[in-house]
Amino acid sequence: MGCKEEQSVHPEIMKSTTYSQIIREHGVRLKKRLGQHFMTDPRLLSSIAEAMVPSDGWVALEIGAGLGTLTRKLCGRARWVYALEIDMELGPAVSEITCDFANLTWIWGDALKFDLSGQTLRGTYPTAPLVLCGNVPYYVTSGIVYSAFVGRPAWNRLAFVVQDELGRRMAEPPGSRQFGRLSLWCQYRARVAVERKIPKGAFLPPPKVDSCLVTMDVYDEFPLSIQEEKVLDEISRRAFSQRRKTLLNSLSPLFGSKDELLGLGEQYGLDLSKRPEDMTLDEYVTLARAAAPRLSLDLQA
Ligand code: SAH
Repeated sequence: MGCKEEQSVHPEIMKSTTYSQIIREHGVRLKKRLGQHFMTDPRLLSSIAEAMVPSDGWVALEIGAGLGTLTRKLCGRARWVYALEIDMELGPAVSEITCDFANLTWIWGDALKFDLSGQTLRGTYPTAPLVLCGNVPYYVTSGIVYSAFVGRPAWNRLAFVVQDELGRRMAEPPGSRQFGRLSLWCQYRARVAVERKIPKGAFLPPPKVDSCLVTMDVYDEFPLSIQEEKVLDEISRRAFSQRRKTLLNSLSPLFGSKDELLGLGEQYGLDLSKRPEDMTLDEYVTLARAAAPRLSLDLQA
């Protein structure tokens, strides 16, 4: 199948009118289990790509590239795009849709088995700003974000189209019921913003709920060492898995006794009778730093 771009029609008009034709021609079966909800509106895709890739020096890794509709727009903005997609049955349609870009590497595979820390890409591009982005299925989003934020992330930015509720959870400040382990981790690593809402009607087929575009600009430096971050991770995992308990109750098994934890709280001015969503990010950082020397032996394994 040749590249449709060879026709003498304006590329974007051609693309918007023929995506459904391409899907039909290639007998593409949409797979619910892979969270396949494709975006085809060129104007919407352009504005999302603009928000994902701030300027043309950036290198992007797109997760769940689907038919390559967003990929095209990313290629129009970025220096290079690596597009990762699990469903090889989309191959012929993807070839037709993306064949006119020379700054694209398409990779077939499972994102969760890929190096999402970005270190491999950083090795190839020592100085270019790197963005991890995509319109990703609900069930892989958290896994992707945690993997991307492990250690010292190579990414300068993460930008995802996600279910509205998940996007708000990433951006929600402490004090709200939505604030959870994912919020804590995102906000520790990055400046998080919900850029815009995307109505469910923008997807083919439409999902049950609206989506939003979230951007996370990763900080250059972090207040905790990597070892202390492991402690923060352990603390937040325990605290938020028992949300209705106070920190004193949910964390005391980790510290051996309530007294030990109470002493630590007093020493560092932390009120540990709070529920986990009521602690500020700074308080979590203080707690992790104070706890690290006491817990590091257990967590080193
Ligand atoms: N970015 C495209 C497609 C979004 S739908 C668009 O906006 O139109 C989400 C895509 O993620 C689907 O194509 C699905 O096949 C793919 N996907 C699902 N799980 C994946 C995984 N573990 N690794 C890579 N891609 C995955």
